[in-house]
Amino acid sequence: MNSTVEDIKARIDIIDLIAEHVELKRAGQNYKGLCPFHSEKTPSFIVNPSKQIFHCFGCHKGGDIFAFVMNYENMTFQEALSYLSQKAGIKLENRSQRSEVRSGLKENLFAIHKEALIFFQNNFKISKQALSYLNERGLNSETIEKFSIGYSKNAKYDGNDALFNHLKAKGFATEHIKASGLVNFGEHGIYDFFRDRLMFPIFDLQGRTIAFGGRILSSSKNAPKYINSPDSIIFKKGESSYGLNIAKNSITQKGYSIIVEGYLDVISCHQYGFTNAIAPLGTALTPGQLKRLKRFSNKVLLVFDGDSAGISATKRSIELCYAEGMIVKILLLPQGEDPDTFLRKHGEENFRKYMGRAISPVEFLLKVSGRSKPDAVRYMLQIIASCPDSLQRDETIRELSDRSKINELTLREELKAAGQKRQKTEVRSQKSDILNPCINREEQMLLTIALSFPDRAALIANNIDPMIIENPGIRGIFEKIKKGLSMGKLLSVCDEEEQRLITMLSINTEIDEEYVEANVEEIIEGCLKAIALRKLERQIKSAGEAGDVKLLNSLLFEKKSLSQKSRLLLKEGNLAKN
Ligand SMILES: [Zn+2]
Repeated sequence: MNSTVEDIKARIDIIDLIAEHVELKRAGQNYKGLCPFHSEKTPSFIVNPSKQIFHCFGCHKGGDIFAFVMNYENMTFQEALSYLSQKAGIKLENRSQRSEVRSGLKENLFAIHKEALIFFQNNFKISKQALSYLNERGLNSETIEKFSIGYSKNAKYDGNDALFNHLKAKGFATEHIKASGLVNFGEHGIYDFFRDRLMFPIFDLQGRTIAFGGRILSSSKNAPKYINSPDSIIFKKGESSYGLNIAKNSITQKGYSIIVEGYLDVISCHQYGFTNAIAPLGTALTPGQLKRLKRFSNKVLLVFDGDSAGISATKRSIELCYAEGMIVKILLLPQGEDPDTFLRKHGEENFRKYMGRAISPVEFLLKVSGRSKPDAVRYMLQIIASCPDSLQRDETIRELSDRSKINELTLREELKAAGQKRQKTEVRSQKSDILNPCINREEQMLLTIALSFPDRAALIANNIDPMIIENPGIRGIFEKIKKGLSMGKLLSVCDEEEQRLITMLSINTEIDEEYVEANVEEIIEGCLKAIALRKLERQIKSAGEAGDVKLLNSLLFEKKSLSQKSRLLLKEGNLAKN
């Protein structure tokens, strides 16, 4: 398997792969871009073509093409392997590997959803009721096809478990069907989760069906109008958006996305040519949805109902967009209208014109605040304080001052206070992250040299006892280097923390490679000495605390002679350059 991994790595260049998703610019020997894994305005995401690795100095994610795909596409290693091997045009020959992939729960859930999609679409073709409902809503057959709309059977005629029986007949195991969430196994027996509903499949970004939304067709039921599949190992409601897989290219082209509330709003928008429309799943947007959306564009137009539920949903969405550093505008439709009804009544041209009336978050908040202007201003300041982009913060505060007629300096003072309040709560959550990689400079330098000058890696490893290294990650890596693992293979056997360290130190932009290369032995010696001295100091301290005078004296002597030594640490012969 290792050779397959190496073959794939040899055929796929990490720059090409990442450039499909991230805009990369050359910076010296590296490429730089905005990190796809966290919110940022100045690039700290670095890709190194010669080492074929990436590292983000903001969120510390890093690794090779496999790590990138696993993180970006949310895949397991096996999935990344089959995805990348396909991309590389390499067949996964090993049979057992293949069946392992197939027999995995995830793979089964994808297959079940694919089968359910076909089942619902076939039902739809023979359901007059479902078709006439969509025709009434003005959807044409092309749109119905584009969104793969289906129908789950009516329990009255087909029983409660039509889908279950279908999936069983297709050979799926009951435990897998259960895990899909598409069938309930309750006190009253087995029954399909969706019955007598219009079915809107939800896709992941690779176009695989991962869940469904269902709208009730019969009007006289107590049942909720819309229901969504429960979360499963292939579907997290808070991370997927409706229509994103269909809209993503258009969002990139048009440079912004339109966020509407419901599935039918999305579908109508697309039918009328607004192909960059998507919707959250359920009522409210989530940070996870925005993070995915942001990969395609940083700009958002929120189109919500003008009723009170719509207004509070809009407020919440503005908060989230600012916290992600996204640029947002708001379009409030006339009371009682949604994009679907508006488009059907007034048509595409008028919707486009109406879009020209989109307002900024500041305008929106002042408009809906009524008489409580100071509250609205304070609320807006809090939102601004959460924004990671200083330019956006600056611009918004100027606008807020203009529109609220409150002095800009006063607002900036208030913003500072709001920012400090935020920081206090945030520092606590980030602290562990900052203190955790407590790496001392010498350990870090030794590993950097080992990674940047692979021919020196063995020299360092031979001269160091991994046990005296304090940082567990660096210790683990040196243990692996000592076992004779080549640099190329190192990443694939390291755990996440070790990978993070390797990519970070491999792309250490602060080290002057020329200087290090010219003085490599001296630097290695210096580091080894400092590490050895630090270990002695620790021993001296504990001997002192234990009151062991004899040990203390011998340690002090050892320390003194070590301090006086120079250029004697490396084993003889190792220094000769070859
Ligand atoms: Zn990052």
